[in-house]
Amino acid sequence: MIRTRFAPSPTGFLHIGGVRTALFSWAYARKHGGTFVLRIEDTDLERSTPESVQAILDGMHWVGLDYDEGPFYQTHRFDRYKAVVKDLLASGHAYLCYCSKEELDEMRAGQEARGEKPRYDRRWRPEPGKTLPPVPEGVEPVVRFRTPLDGTVAWDDLVKGRIEFANEELDDLIIARPDGSPTYNFCVVIDDWDMNITQVIRGDDHVNNTPRQINILKALNAPLPQYAHLPMILNADGHKMSKRRDAVSVVQYDEQGILPEALLNYLARLGWGHGDDEFFTMEQFVEWFSLEAVNPGPSRFDREKFLWVNQQHMKVADNGRLAALVEPRLNKLGVKAENGPALADVIALVKERAHDLNELAAQCDYFYVRRTPVDADLAKHFDADARARIGRFGERLAALPEWNAEAIHELFKPFCADEGIKMGLLGMPLRVAVCGTAQTPSVDAVLALIGRDAVLARLRASVQ
Ligand code: GLU
Repeated sequence: MIRTRFAPSPTGFLHIGGVRTALFSWAYARKHGGTFVLRIEDTDLERSTPESVQAILDGMHWVGLDYDEGPFYQTHRFDRYKAVVKDLLASGHAYLCYCSKEELDEMRAGQEARGEKPRYDRRWRPEPGKTLPPVPEGVEPVVRFRTPLDGTVAWDDLVKGRIEFANEELDDLIIARPDGSPTYNFCVVIDDWDMNITQVIRGDDHVNNTPRQINILKALNAPLPQYAHLPMILNADGHKMSKRRDAVSVVQYDEQGILPEALLNYLARLGWGHGDDEFFTMEQFVEWFSLEAVNPGPSRFDREKFLWVNQQHMKVADNGRLAALVEPRLNKLGVKAENGPALADVIALVKERAHDLNELAAQCDYFYVRRTPVDADLAKHFDADARARIGRFGERLAALPEWNAEAIHELFKPFCADEGIKMGLLGMPLRVAVCGTAQTPSVDAVLALIGRDAVLARLRASVQ
């Protein structure tokens, strides 16, 4: 049975790199009929906050990555970690170390002065025939893991291929602090073991933790999961995404008017591909996904491509759903949609061109309010002749027996023939007079939706 997990630390917002990790982990479980677990790694009591736990839960909900088990919280499992620390002490795989901070600093300074790599010199590690220093008074010990002194730790990474570390390079890492609280690398191991995780899929910033974690699992006689380390997402300049320069939190994407399925689609394409497919559903993604197809190198966030993907998802999205998402954005523009055409109908007409929901809201705006044309560019379509002309056209609109796009359309040809003009000389000023913009979908459809009373009122107001 396949079991994967997403294990964020709640020390900030939900990062889109995290969402991509969650997505791949989720997709792997879904593809193999497995179980996807959410685990909140809140052992760092100083940096973890309830707000950021909430941000993770909200973010997962927003993107729609459903988990089968959890959320589990590491802070609820301290007794379990402590029990395993005890077992490791009893079996000799861990030992107490009474080095004070001063001693460690001194050790490090000496090593640096000799040009050596600073590391704990294992002075409290028991060995046959070795005499340990006297236990100092008043010092609470840490617990260190007894890392093998030689040999290698290796695994076949499902993304990066074979990775090997020499044990020599690894310290006897601290697994419990002086107050008895377990450390991060230790909790991860016990959790992955207890939760029967079969594939650990995570960011490649954790590659250096993996040999340490494997050594602990081996000491515990626990089965080893497979590991898959995902490459980073870089910004367009090839730098690590940063809070200052880039949108990194899922909330920002929501604010920018991105559909969650578009964010997932684009994140899926970052570092993974299926031929030339750029636009796909999550069902397709799950069907096509494999870790072997993940590119081990970092990928770059391309905003233009991303917006194109969002546009494609908006095109196929249900207009009623889009209306619910656009309405608050319209309100922000000071527009109330209640007193006008159904927002879903407006969206159906204009959404083709919009790349995000904010742009879409802006394009719905003139169906509800008339913006006075102020722009010099627009004013040129609106000289005295044009005003008089649309005044005359307004009379024909007023006399139409039926108000719909076809009936309005039927008026154009004979009116232009009577006036001896081309359609542009009617269409442009008509758009400007009614909508306050020259960029609209087909003008007959727009007028039909705005409604006769509103159209005539706007025409009257604009020709005065
Ligand atoms: N809590 C870690 C993080 O947020 C992930 C640990 C893991 O996936 O093993 O980076």
